[in-house]
Amino acid sequence: MLKLKKNLIAGDWVDGSSEIENRNPSDLSDLVGIFAQATADQLEITLQQARHAQVEWAAYGIERKYNVLMAIGTEMMSRAEELGTLLAREEGKPLAEGKGEIYRAGQFFTYYAAETLRQLGDTADSVRDGVEIDVRREPVGVVAIISPWNFPTATASWKIAPALCFGNAVVWKPANITPASAVALVEIISRQDIPKGLVSLVMGSGSTVGQKLTESTLVDAISFTGSVPVGKAIAASAIQNLTRLQMEMGSKNALAIMDDADLNLAVSLALGGAFGGSGQKCTASSRLVVHQSVHDEFVEKLVLGAKAMKVGHALDPETQMGPVVSEQQLVENFNFVDLAKSEGAELLCGGVRLDMPTDGYYMSPGVFVGTKNDMRVNREEMFAPLACVISVDSYDEALHVVNDTNFGLTSGIVTTSLARATHFRRNAQTGCVMVNLPTAGTDYHVPFGGRGDSSYGPREQGRAAAEFYTVVKTSYIASGKPS
Ligand code: NAP
Ligand code: MG
Repeated sequence: MLKLKKNLIAGDWVDGSSEIENRNPSDLSDLVGIFAQATADQLEITLQQARHAQVEWAAYGIERKYNVLMAIGTEMMSRAEELGTLLAREEGKPLAEGKGEIYRAGQFFTYYAAETLRQLGDTADSVRDGVEIDVRREPVGVVAIISPWNFPTATASWKIAPALCFGNAVVWKPANITPASAVALVEIISRQDIPKGLVSLVMGSGSTVGQKLTESTLVDAISFTGSVPVGKAIAASAIQNLTRLQMEMGSKNALAIMDDADLNLAVSLALGGAFGGSGQKCTASSRLVVHQSVHDEFVEKLVLGAKAMKVGHALDPETQMGPVVSEQQLVENFNFVDLAKSEGAELLCGGVRLDMPTDGYYMSPGVFVGTKNDMRVNREEMFAPLACVISVDSYDEALHVVNDTNFGLTSGIVTTSLARATHFRRNAQTGCVMVNLPTAGTDYHVPFGGRGDSSYGPREQGRAAAEFYTVVKTSYIASGKPS
Protein backbone atom coordinates (compact mmCIF):
# COMPACT_ATOMS: atom_id res chain seq x y z
CA MET A 1 0.00 0.00 0.00
CA LEU A 2 1.48 3.36 -1.04
CA LYS A 3 1.62 6.09 1.58
CA LEU A 4 -0.53 9.13 0.89
CA LYS A 5 1.52 12.16 -0.17
CA LYS A 6 0.25 15.22 1.65
CA ASN A 7 0.05 18.95 1.17
CA LEU A 8 2.26 21.36 3.09
CA ILE A 9 -0.23 23.68 4.80
CA ALA A 10 1.01 26.40 7.15
CA GLY A 11 4.19 24.39 7.63
CA ASP A 12 2.53 21.02 8.39
CA TRP A 13 2.04 18.04 6.08
CA VAL A 14 -1.71 17.35 6.11
CA ASP A 15 -4.30 15.11 4.46
CA GLY A 16 -6.87 16.59 2.10
CA SER A 17 -10.58 16.05 1.67
CA SER A 18 -9.98 13.70 -1.25
CA GLU A 19 -7.14 11.94 -3.05
CA ILE A 20 -6.01 11.28 -6.59
CA GLU A 21 -3.97 8.48 -8.11
CA ASN A 22 -0.99 9.32 -10.30
CA ARG A 23 0.01 6.74 -12.92
CA ASN A 24 3.05 6.36 -15.11
CA PRO A 25 2.18 7.32 -18.73
CA SER A 26 4.82 4.82 -19.94
CA ASP A 27 3.15 1.98 -18.02
CA LEU A 28 -0.34 2.47 -16.66
CA SER A 29 0.03 -0.51 -14.32
CA ASP A 30 2.68 1.49 -12.43
CA LEU A 31 1.04 3.57 -9.70
CA VAL A 32 3.43 6.44 -8.91
CA GLY A 33 1.54 7.56 -5.84
CA ILE A 34 -1.62 8.79 -4.16
CA PHE A 35 -1.87 12.52 -3.54
CA ALA A 36 -4.00 14.60 -1.19
CA GLN A 37 -6.15 17.35 -2.66
CA ALA A 38 -6.11 20.59 -0.69
CA THR A 39 -9.39 22.09 0.51
CA ALA A 40 -10.53 25.72 0.33
CA ASP A 41 -10.14 26.02 4.12
CA GLN A 42 -6.57 24.72 3.98
CA LEU A 43 -5.78 27.23 1.27
CA GLU A 44 -7.10 30.05 3.44
CA ILE A 45 -5.14 28.86 6.51
CA THR A 46 -1.90 28.53 4.59
CA LEU A 47 -2.29 31.94 2.94
CA GLN A 48 -2.82 33.57 6.37
CA GLN A 49 0.28 31.86 7.75
CA ALA A 50 2.28 32.76 4.62
CA ARG A 51 1.74 36.46 5.37
CA HIS A 52 3.39 36.12 8.79
CA ALA A 53 6.16 33.87 7.50
CA GLN A 54 6.96 36.32 4.70
CA VAL A 55 7.59 39.18 7.14
CA GLU A 56 9.89 36.96 9.18
CA TRP A 57 11.75 35.70 6.10
CA ALA A 58 12.23 39.20 4.68
CA ALA A 59 13.98 40.12 7.93
CA TYR A 60 16.51 37.24 7.60
CA GLY A 61 19.98 38.48 6.68
CA ILE A 62 20.97 37.96 3.07
CA GLU A 63 23.59 35.35 3.92
CA ARG A 64 21.02 33.30 5.80
CA LYS A 65 18.77 33.38 2.73
CA TYR A 66 21.76 32.53 0.55
CA ASN A 67 22.44 29.44 2.68
CA VAL A 68 18.85 28.23 2.31
CA LEU A 69 18.79 28.60 -1.48
CA MET A 70 22.26 27.06 -1.86
CA ALA A 71 21.24 24.05 0.23
CA ILE A 72 18.11 23.46 -1.87
CA GLY A 73 20.03 23.78 -5.14
CA THR A 74 22.94 21.56 -4.17
CA GLU A 75 20.65 18.85 -2.81
CA MET A 76 18.64 18.84 -6.05
CA MET A 77 21.75 18.61 -8.19
CA SER A 78 23.18 15.81 -6.07
CA ARG A 79 19.87 13.88 -6.27
CA ALA A 80 19.32 14.49 -10.00
CA GLU A 81 19.46 10.76 -10.79
CA GLU A 82 16.87 9.76 -8.19
CA LEU A 83 14.52 12.72 -8.64
CA GLY A 84 14.96 12.69 -12.41
CA THR A 85 13.83 9.07 -12.43
CA LEU A 86 10.71 10.00 -10.48
CA LEU A 87 10.02 12.89 -12.85
CA ALA A 88 10.49 10.74 -15.97
CA ARG A 89 8.25 8.12 -14.41
CA GLU A 90 5.36 10.47 -13.75
CA GLU A 91 5.67 12.76 -16.79
CA GLY A 92 6.96 10.42 -19.49
CA LYS A 93 10.03 12.33 -20.67
CA PRO A 94 13.12 10.20 -21.29
CA LEU A 95 15.25 9.58 -18.20
CA ALA A 96 18.16 11.72 -19.41
CA GLU A 97 15.80 14.68 -19.86
CA GLY A 98 14.28 14.07 -16.43
CA LYS A 99 17.71 14.08 -14.79
CA GLY A 100 18.70 17.15 -16.78
CA GLU A 101 15.58 18.97 -15.65
CA ILE A 102 16.25 18.31 -11.96
CA TYR A 103 19.86 19.40 -12.31
CA ARG A 104 18.79 22.58 -14.10
CA ALA A 105 16.16 23.22 -11.43
CA GLY A 106 18.95 23.00 -8.84
CA GLN A 107 20.91 25.56 -10.83
CA PHE A 108 18.02 28.02 -10.55
CA PHE A 109 18.36 27.80 -6.78
CA THR A 110 22.13 28.22 -6.74
CA TYR A 111 21.91 31.10 -9.22
CA TYR A 112 19.35 32.91 -7.06
CA ALA A 113 21.33 32.04 -3.94
CA ALA A 114 24.07 34.22 -5.40
CA GLU A 115 21.53 36.87 -6.38
CA THR A 116 20.52 37.27 -2.73
CA LEU A 117 24.00 38.73 -2.16
CA ARG A 118 23.82 41.01 -5.19
CA GLN A 119 20.79 43.08 -4.24
CA LEU A 120 22.12 46.58 -4.60
CA GLY A 121 19.98 49.69 -4.73
CA ASP A 122 20.63 53.21 -5.99
CA THR A 123 21.38 56.39 -4.18
CA ALA A 124 20.87 59.85 -5.57
CA ASP A 125 20.85 63.48 -4.59
CA SER A 126 17.47 65.15 -4.57
CA VAL A 127 16.72 68.10 -6.80
CA ARG A 128 16.17 69.89 -3.49
CA ASP A 129 19.07 71.10 -1.36
CA GLY A 130 19.95 68.97 1.66
CA VAL A 131 17.93 65.92 0.63
CA GLU A 132 19.21 62.43 -0.27
CA ILE A 133 17.40 59.64 -2.05
CA ASP A 134 17.66 55.87 -1.45
CA VAL A 135 16.06 53.53 -4.03
CA ARG A 136 15.80 49.88 -3.09
CA ARG A 137 13.75 46.82 -3.94
CA GLU A 138 11.49 45.17 -1.35
CA PRO A 139 9.55 41.90 -1.50
CA VAL A 140 6.10 41.88 -3.09
CA GLY A 141 4.67 39.66 -0.32
CA VAL A 142 2.85 36.37 -0.86
CA VAL A 143 3.34 34.94 -4.35
CA ALA A 144 1.00 32.32 -5.84
CA ILE A 145 2.77 30.01 -8.26
CA ILE A 146 0.75 27.96 -10.75
CA SER A 147 2.80 25.65 -12.93
CA PRO A 148 2.30 23.19 -15.82
CA TRP A 149 3.14 19.49 -16.08
CA ASN A 150 5.57 19.53 -19.01
CA PHE A 151 8.54 20.94 -17.06
CA PRO A 152 7.04 20.40 -13.63
CA THR A 153 10.22 20.94 -11.60
CA ALA A 154 12.10 23.45 -13.75
CA THR A 155 9.13 25.80 -14.24
CA ALA A 156 8.31 25.80 -10.55
CA SER A 157 11.98 26.28 -9.59
CA TRP A 158 12.50 29.27 -11.87
CA LYS A 159 9.62 30.88 -9.98
CA ILE A 160 10.16 29.65 -6.40
CA ALA A 161 13.90 30.42 -6.33
CA PRO A 162 13.62 34.13 -7.26
CA ALA A 163 10.48 34.50 -5.11
CA LEU A 164 12.47 33.36 -2.06
CA CYS A 165 15.64 35.18 -3.10
CA PHE A 166 13.79 38.50 -3.02
CA GLY A 167 12.11 37.84 0.34
CA ASN A 168 8.66 36.57 -0.63
CA ALA A 169 6.48 33.71 0.62
CA VAL A 170 5.27 31.09 -1.86
CA VAL A 171 2.01 29.18 -2.22
CA TRP A 172 2.51 26.66 -5.02
CA LYS A 173 -0.18 24.84 -6.96
CA PRO A 174 1.54 22.37 -9.28
CA ALA A 175 -0.24 20.69 -12.20
CA ASN A 176 -2.30 17.88 -10.73
CA ILE A 177 -0.98 15.43 -13.30
CA THR A 178 2.61 15.73 -11.98
CA PRO A 179 2.32 15.90 -8.19
CA ALA A 180 5.14 13.51 -7.24
CA SER A 181 7.95 15.78 -8.40
CA ALA A 182 6.23 18.68 -6.63
CA VAL A 183 6.13 16.84 -3.30
CA ALA A 184 9.82 15.92 -3.73
CA LEU A 185 10.85 19.55 -4.27
CA VAL A 186 8.76 20.92 -1.41
CA GLU A 187 10.06 18.19 0.89
CA ILE A 188 13.60 19.50 0.29
CA ILE A 189 12.56 23.12 0.81
CA SER A 190 10.62 22.30 4.00
CA ARG A 191 13.75 20.92 5.72
CA GLN A 192 15.63 24.21 5.44
CA ASP A 193 16.05 27.03 7.94
CA ILE A 194 12.88 28.90 6.91
CA PRO A 195 9.93 30.33 8.87
CA LYS A 196 6.98 27.95 9.34
CA GLY A 197 4.62 28.28 6.41
CA LEU A 198 6.97 30.27 4.15
CA VAL A 199 6.40 27.76 1.35
CA SER A 200 3.12 25.90 0.90
CA LEU A 201 2.14 23.07 -1.41
CA VAL A 202 -1.53 23.02 -2.40
CA MET A 203 -2.22 20.15 -4.77
CA GLY A 204 -5.60 20.05 -6.46
CA SER A 205 -7.22 20.84 -9.77
CA GLY A 206 -6.92 24.18 -11.50
CA SER A 207 -10.66 24.74 -11.45
CA THR A 208 -10.85 24.35 -7.65
CA VAL A 209 -7.62 25.16 -5.78
CA GLY A 210 -6.09 27.07 -8.69
CA GLN A 211 -9.11 29.26 -9.24
CA LYS A 212 -9.48 30.02 -5.49
CA LEU A 213 -5.82 30.96 -5.28
CA THR A 214 -6.12 33.45 -8.12
CA GLU A 215 -9.20 35.03 -6.54
CA SER A 216 -7.72 35.44 -3.06
CA THR A 217 -7.11 38.91 -1.65
CA LEU A 218 -4.30 37.37 0.44
CA VAL A 219 -2.19 36.88 -2.68
CA ASP A 220 0.00 39.80 -3.77
CA ALA A 221 1.32 38.38 -7.04
CA ILE A 222 0.62 35.43 -9.35
CA SER A 223 3.23 33.78 -11.55
CA PHE A 224 1.60 31.39 -14.02
CA THR A 225 2.92 29.13 -16.74
CA GLY A 226 0.41 27.23 -18.82
CA SER A 227 -2.01 27.61 -21.69
CA VAL A 228 -3.48 30.81 -23.11
CA PRO A 229 -7.15 30.11 -22.20
CA VAL A 230 -6.27 29.38 -18.57
CA GLY A 231 -4.00 32.44 -18.52
CA LYS A 232 -6.85 34.65 -19.69
CA ALA A 233 -9.13 33.28 -16.95
CA ILE A 234 -6.42 33.88 -14.34
CA ALA A 235 -5.92 37.44 -15.57
CA ALA A 236 -9.66 38.08 -15.25
CA SER A 237 -9.56 36.91 -11.60
CA ALA A 238 -6.36 38.76 -10.77
CA ILE A 239 -7.57 42.09 -12.10
CA GLN A 240 -10.46 42.11 -9.61
CA ASN A 241 -7.92 42.52 -6.79
CA LEU A 242 -5.31 44.31 -8.91
CA THR A 243 -2.98 41.41 -8.16
CA ARG A 244 0.41 41.64 -9.83
CA LEU A 245 0.63 39.14 -12.68
CA GLN A 246 3.24 37.40 -14.79
CA MET A 247 2.29 34.74 -17.33
CA GLU A 248 4.20 32.51 -19.73
CA MET A 249 1.89 30.66 -22.09
CA GLY A 250 1.74 28.70 -25.29
CA SER A 251 3.46 29.25 -28.59
CA LYS A 252 3.72 28.15 -32.20
CA ASN A 253 7.44 28.42 -32.78
CA ALA A 254 8.93 28.33 -36.26
CA LEU A 255 12.33 27.13 -37.41
CA ALA A 256 13.33 28.65 -40.77
CA ILE A 257 15.62 26.52 -42.95
CA MET A 258 17.34 28.50 -45.66
CA ASP A 259 18.71 27.35 -49.02
CA ASP A 260 22.26 27.96 -47.72
CA ALA A 261 21.74 25.90 -44.54
CA ASP A 262 23.81 22.93 -43.44
CA LEU A 263 20.99 20.44 -44.00
CA ASN A 264 22.27 17.81 -41.60
CA LEU A 265 22.33 20.43 -38.87
CA ALA A 266 18.86 21.62 -39.92
CA VAL A 267 17.46 18.09 -39.70
CA SER A 268 18.95 17.43 -36.29
CA LEU A 269 17.65 20.77 -34.97
CA ALA A 270 14.20 20.08 -36.40
CA LEU A 271 14.04 16.55 -34.98
CA GLY A 272 15.10 17.69 -31.51
CA GLY A 273 12.95 20.80 -31.60
CA ALA A 274 9.79 19.15 -32.89
CA PHE A 275 9.89 15.79 -31.10
CA GLY A 276 11.97 16.39 -27.96
CA GLY A 277 9.78 15.91 -24.90
CA SER A 278 7.20 14.39 -27.29
CA GLY A 279 6.64 17.91 -28.67
CA GLN A 280 5.27 18.99 -25.30
CA LYS A 281 7.40 22.10 -24.97
CA CYS A 282 6.32 25.72 -25.15
CA THR A 283 9.50 26.19 -27.21
CA ALA A 284 8.84 23.25 -29.62
CA SER A 285 9.54 23.81 -33.35
CA SER A 286 6.13 22.85 -34.65
CA ARG A 287 6.38 24.93 -37.85
CA LEU A 288 9.29 24.10 -40.13
CA VAL A 289 9.57 26.89 -42.69
CA VAL A 290 11.72 25.52 -45.49
CA HIS A 291 13.16 27.19 -48.60
CA GLN A 292 11.68 25.40 -51.63
CA SER A 293 15.09 24.76 -53.22
CA VAL A 294 16.10 22.46 -50.32
CA HIS A 295 12.58 21.34 -49.40
CA ASP A 296 12.64 17.84 -50.87
CA GLU A 297 16.09 16.92 -49.61
CA PHE A 298 15.34 18.31 -46.15
CA VAL A 299 12.00 16.49 -45.94
CA GLU A 300 13.53 13.21 -47.05
CA LYS A 301 16.17 13.40 -44.32
CA LEU A 302 13.65 14.57 -41.74
CA VAL A 303 11.32 11.64 -42.42
CA LEU A 304 14.23 9.19 -42.21
CA GLY A 305 15.20 10.71 -38.87
CA ALA A 306 11.63 10.70 -37.52
CA LYS A 307 11.15 7.05 -38.51
CA ALA A 308 14.43 6.13 -36.83
CA MET A 309 13.51 7.76 -33.51
CA LYS A 310 13.20 5.21 -30.75
CA VAL A 311 9.87 5.68 -29.01
CA GLY A 312 9.62 3.83 -25.74
CA HIS A 313 9.31 3.66 -21.97
CA ALA A 314 10.70 6.83 -20.41
CA LEU A 315 12.99 4.85 -18.10
CA ASP A 316 14.52 2.75 -20.90
CA PRO A 317 17.94 4.33 -21.53
CA GLU A 318 17.56 3.68 -25.29
CA THR A 319 14.39 5.76 -25.52
CA GLN A 320 14.61 8.99 -27.50
CA MET A 321 10.93 9.90 -27.25
CA GLY A 322 8.66 8.82 -24.41
CA PRO A 323 4.87 8.65 -24.37
CA VAL A 324 2.69 11.75 -24.23
CA VAL A 325 1.52 12.73 -20.79
CA SER A 326 -2.12 11.59 -20.74
CA GLU A 327 -4.98 9.95 -22.55
CA GLN A 328 -6.54 13.37 -23.08
CA GLN A 329 -3.34 14.65 -24.68
CA LEU A 330 -3.22 11.62 -26.97
CA VAL A 331 -6.84 12.15 -28.07
CA GLU A 332 -6.17 15.84 -28.75
CA ASN A 333 -3.05 14.93 -30.75
CA PHE A 334 -4.96 12.56 -33.01
CA ASN A 335 -7.63 15.23 -33.45
CA PHE A 336 -4.86 17.48 -34.79
CA VAL A 337 -3.72 14.69 -37.14
CA ASP A 338 -7.28 14.43 -38.50
CA LEU A 339 -7.57 18.21 -38.70
CA ALA A 340 -4.30 18.52 -40.65
CA LYS A 341 -5.48 15.90 -43.14
CA SER A 342 -8.86 17.57 -43.51
CA GLU A 343 -7.10 20.87 -44.21
CA GLY A 344 -5.17 19.21 -47.05
CA ALA A 345 -1.84 18.45 -45.36
CA GLU A 346 -0.07 15.23 -46.31
CA LEU A 347 1.16 12.96 -43.50
CA LEU A 348 4.48 11.43 -44.61
CA CYS A 349 5.16 9.37 -41.49
CA GLY A 350 4.04 8.70 -37.92
CA GLY A 351 1.16 10.33 -36.12
CA VAL A 352 -0.32 6.99 -35.08
CA ARG A 353 -0.76 5.14 -31.79
CA LEU A 354 1.96 2.62 -31.02
CA ASP A 355 1.58 -0.70 -29.28
CA MET A 356 4.35 -1.27 -26.77
CA PRO A 357 5.21 -4.00 -24.25
CA THR A 358 3.68 -1.78 -21.56
CA ASP A 359 0.32 -0.06 -21.80
CA GLY A 360 0.95 3.69 -22.17
CA TYR A 361 0.21 6.79 -24.22
CA TYR A 362 2.57 6.11 -27.10
CA MET A 363 2.47 7.64 -30.54
CA SER A 364 4.98 7.96 -33.36
CA PRO A 365 6.44 11.33 -34.37
CA GLY A 366 4.55 12.72 -37.35
CA VAL A 367 5.68 14.88 -40.28
CA PHE A 368 3.20 16.82 -42.41
CA VAL A 369 4.07 18.46 -45.74
CA GLY A 370 2.07 20.66 -48.07
CA THR A 371 0.88 22.78 -45.18
CA LYS A 372 0.08 26.49 -45.37
CA ASN A 373 0.64 28.95 -42.58
CA ASP A 374 -3.04 29.88 -42.44
CA MET A 375 -4.14 26.31 -41.66
CA ARG A 376 -5.35 25.77 -38.10
CA VAL A 377 -2.58 23.24 -37.50
CA ASN A 378 -0.12 26.07 -38.08
CA ARG A 379 -2.05 28.61 -35.99
CA GLU A 380 -2.92 26.61 -32.84
CA GLU A 381 -0.51 25.16 -30.32
CA MET A 382 -0.62 21.36 -30.63
CA PHE A 383 1.77 20.30 -27.86
CA ALA A 384 2.24 17.09 -29.79
CA PRO A 385 5.10 15.25 -31.57
CA LEU A 386 3.86 16.63 -34.89
CA ALA A 387 5.78 18.91 -37.25
CA CYS A 388 4.30 20.84 -40.16
CA VAL A 389 6.54 21.77 -43.08
CA ILE A 390 5.72 25.05 -44.83
CA SER A 391 7.51 25.64 -48.15
CA VAL A 392 8.60 29.22 -48.95
CA ASP A 393 10.29 30.83 -51.96
CA SER A 394 12.64 33.27 -50.28
CA TYR A 395 14.22 34.50 -47.05
CA ASP A 396 11.74 37.39 -46.99
CA GLU A 397 8.80 35.03 -47.21
CA ALA A 398 10.31 32.82 -44.50
CA LEU A 399 10.63 35.77 -42.12
CA HIS A 400 7.07 36.84 -42.90
CA VAL A 401 5.72 33.34 -42.16
CA VAL A 402 7.76 33.03 -38.95
CA ASN A 403 6.23 36.29 -37.69
CA ASP A 404 2.70 35.58 -38.94
CA THR A 405 1.34 34.09 -35.69
CA ASN A 406 -0.52 35.26 -32.59
CA PHE A 407 2.28 33.83 -30.46
CA GLY A 408 5.92 34.84 -30.10
CA LEU A 409 8.02 32.81 -27.68
CA THR A 410 10.93 31.52 -29.76
CA SER A 411 12.00 31.31 -33.38
CA GLY A 412 15.04 29.97 -35.15
CA ILE A 413 16.94 30.18 -38.40
CA VAL A 414 19.35 27.71 -39.96
CA THR A 415 21.65 29.52 -42.36
CA THR A 416 25.33 29.99 -43.18
CA SER A 417 24.73 33.60 -44.21
CA LEU A 418 25.82 36.13 -41.60
CA ALA A 419 23.65 38.78 -43.23
CA ARG A 420 20.50 36.63 -42.99
CA ALA A 421 21.30 35.48 -39.46
CA THR A 422 21.76 39.07 -38.36
CA HIS A 423 18.67 40.34 -40.13
CA PHE A 424 16.59 37.50 -38.71
CA ARG A 425 17.84 38.07 -35.18
CA ARG A 426 16.87 41.74 -35.46
CA ASN A 427 13.49 41.21 -37.11
CA ALA A 428 11.98 38.01 -35.73
CA GLN A 429 9.05 39.05 -33.51
CA THR A 430 9.73 36.62 -30.67
CA GLY A 431 11.11 36.92 -27.14
CA CYS A 432 13.93 34.46 -27.88
CA VAL A 433 15.71 33.96 -31.21
CA MET A 434 17.98 31.03 -32.05
CA VAL A 435 20.61 31.07 -34.79
CA ASN A 436 21.73 27.59 -35.89
CA LEU A 437 20.40 26.24 -32.59
CA PRO A 438 17.17 24.46 -31.61
CA THR A 439 14.15 26.65 -30.77
CA ALA A 440 14.01 24.82 -27.43
CA GLY A 441 16.72 25.09 -24.78
CA THR A 442 17.41 28.29 -22.87
CA ASP A 443 19.79 29.40 -20.12
CA TYR A 444 18.93 30.38 -16.56
CA HIS A 445 20.93 33.59 -16.11
CA VAL A 446 19.26 35.65 -18.85
CA PRO A 447 15.65 36.79 -19.42
CA PHE A 448 13.12 34.27 -20.72
CA GLY A 449 9.74 35.15 -22.20
CA GLY A 450 7.81 35.88 -25.35
CA ARG A 451 5.66 38.34 -27.21
CA GLY A 452 2.05 38.36 -28.35
CA ASP A 453 -0.14 35.73 -26.69
CA SER A 454 2.93 33.87 -25.39
CA SER A 455 3.66 36.16 -22.47
CA TYR A 456 2.16 38.79 -20.24
CA GLY A 457 4.01 40.87 -17.69
CA PRO A 458 7.69 41.06 -16.81
CA ARG A 459 10.28 38.54 -17.98
CA GLU A 460 11.31 35.53 -15.92
CA GLN A 461 14.78 34.24 -15.01
CA GLY A 462 18.15 35.92 -14.65
CA ARG A 463 18.26 39.39 -13.17
CA ALA A 464 15.03 40.24 -14.99
CA ALA A 465 13.10 38.29 -12.33
CA ALA A 466 13.62 41.13 -9.84
CA GLU A 467 11.12 43.17 -11.83
CA PHE A 468 8.27 40.86 -10.86
CA TYR A 469 9.30 39.60 -7.42
CA THR A 470 10.08 43.01 -5.92
CA VAL A 471 8.52 46.43 -5.52
CA VAL A 472 10.68 49.52 -5.68
CA LYS A 473 10.76 51.91 -2.74
CA THR A 474 12.11 55.45 -3.11
CA SER A 475 13.01 57.08 0.20
CA TYR A 476 13.78 60.79 0.67
CA ILE A 477 16.01 61.69 3.62
CA ALA A 478 16.65 65.21 4.86
CA SER A 479 20.43 65.39 5.10
CA GLY A 480 21.22 69.05 5.64
CA LYS A 481 23.73 70.29 8.20
CA PRO A 482 22.53 69.50 11.74
CA SER A 483 21.56 72.57 13.69
P1 NAP B 1 -2.81 24.49 -18.37
O1 NAP B 1 -3.87 23.52 -18.66
O2 NAP B 1 -3.04 25.92 -18.71
O3 NAP B 1 -2.51 24.39 -16.79
C1 NAP B 1 -1.46 25.09 -16.18
C2 NAP B 1 -1.73 25.18 -14.70
O4 NAP B 1 -2.89 25.98 -14.46
C3 NAP B 1 -2.03 23.82 -14.06
O5 NAP B 1 -1.46 23.81 -12.77
C4 NAP B 1 -3.54 23.83 -14.00
O6 NAP B 1 -4.06 22.97 -13.04
C5 NAP B 1 -3.80 25.28 -13.65
N1 NAP B 1 -5.16 25.74 -13.92
C6 NAP B 1 -6.06 25.24 -14.81
N2 NAP B 1 -7.21 25.96 -14.75
C7 NAP B 1 -7.02 26.94 -13.82
C8 NAP B 1 -7.83 27.99 -13.31
N3 NAP B 1 -9.06 28.21 -13.75
N4 NAP B 1 -7.31 28.80 -12.36
C9 NAP B 1 -6.07 28.61 -11.91
N5 NAP B 1 -5.26 27.63 -12.34
C10 NAP B 1 -5.73 26.80 -13.29
O7 NAP B 1 -1.44 24.09 -19.03
P2 NAP B 1 -0.79 22.63 -19.01
O8 NAP B 1 -1.66 21.77 -19.85
O9 NAP B 1 -0.47 22.21 -17.63
O10 NAP B 1 0.61 22.94 -19.72
C11 NAP B 1 0.73 23.10 -21.08
C12 NAP B 1 0.74 24.58 -21.45
O11 NAP B 1 1.78 25.25 -20.76
C13 NAP B 1 1.05 24.79 -22.90
O12 NAP B 1 0.19 25.78 -23.44
C14 NAP B 1 2.48 25.29 -22.91
O13 NAP B 1 2.84 26.04 -24.01
C15 NAP B 1 2.52 26.06 -21.65
N6 NAP B 1 3.90 26.23 -21.18
C16 NAP B 1 4.49 27.45 -21.35
C17 NAP B 1 5.78 27.66 -20.93
C18 NAP B 1 6.42 29.00 -21.10
O14 NAP B 1 7.37 29.29 -20.40
N7 NAP B 1 5.92 29.87 -21.98
C19 NAP B 1 6.50 26.62 -20.34
C20 NAP B 1 5.88 25.38 -20.19
C21 NAP B 1 4.57 25.21 -20.61
P3 NAP B 1 -4.46 21.42 -13.36
O15 NAP B 1 -3.83 21.06 -14.65
O16 NAP B 1 -3.91 20.70 -12.19
O17 NAP B 1 -5.94 21.36 -13.40
MG1 MG C 1 -3.93 21.27 -19.59
